[in-house]
Amino acid sequence: MTRVVRTRSELREALAACPRPLGLVPTMGWLHDGHRSLMRRARADNATTIATIFVNPRQFNEAADFQQYPRNEARDLAICEDEGLDLVFAPPVDEVYPAGFDTLVTVGAVSRPLEGAARPGHFDGVATVVAILFDLVGAEHAYFGQKDAQQVMVIRQMARDLAIPTQVIACPTVREPDGLALSSRNVHLSPDERAAAPVLRRALLAGRDLWAGGERSGDAIRAAMAAVLAEEPLANPEYVSVADGLTLAELETIERPALLSLAVRFGATRLIDNEPLGLD
Ligand code: AMP
Repeated sequence: MTRVVRTRSELREALAACPRPLGLVPTMGWLHDGHRSLMRRARADNATTIATIFVNPRQFNEAADFQQYPRNEARDLAICEDEGLDLVFAPPVDEVYPAGFDTLVTVGAVSRPLEGAARPGHFDGVATVVAILFDLVGAEHAYFGQKDAQQVMVIRQMARDLAIPTQVIACPTVREPDGLALSSRNVHLSPDERAAAPVLRRALLAGRDLWAGGERSGDAIRAAMAAVLAEEPLANPEYVSVADGLTLAELETIERPALLSLAVRFGATRLIDNEPLGLD
């Protein structure tokens, strides 16, 4: 049985009795197979597994996006049960941010480009809530999706700098058969937009193929990805990036591990995806 706790004190009491190591999977709910893959990895590595379900208001830079974010707690809890989780922490907002809360965790350079530039304040909200969750849960391991590659980098930097001992583990992106990365936001796509959305993956693979063939110019690879996106009339690209894999600075020439990443709007729905390039 998965035990659901909603307050800090219930959480503390539940954790006191749990065998270690403890694995944490932070989520905003509307769980899908991407979340399930993190839960499975957490279960494989740990004696106790906990997920958090919290739609964090502070990481939404648009009020409408927060209001429209899909929610279905009963369905989420059934998935947690199905995955054999021991605990779910699903707190109300004032249990995470009690009255008088007035601290923001701001990570430096790695939080500024890409999603940081496109969504002002987003990573402050992410780093703040994850610092609180890491502190409240005190897990040995925490699991995040590579789908949000910059988020993983921001959280690693935050945990290192704040001396939080939880180890951050990145897990592979889970995709639909046509290549679209699973995302809670996919539910907002119209049928036409859903049919168009795999263009993100095609663009990233076009970039990867060029790189695999020896191309090392950032501009050439950005142009190739943009050209694939331009073939899809419903796709409105927000950024097309070839960035350093450690700093996320845009690259003129790819000489080190790099990250290809995209943010593309389909109507009101904004999708992101990425592809890491290793060193060969
Ligand atoms: P979210 O509920 O969207 O905040 O996501 C919770 C966690 O699940 C984050 O670490 C995400 O990176 C991860 N995640 C979301 N989508 C996927 C996916 N398609 N594959 C793997 N992990 C994912």
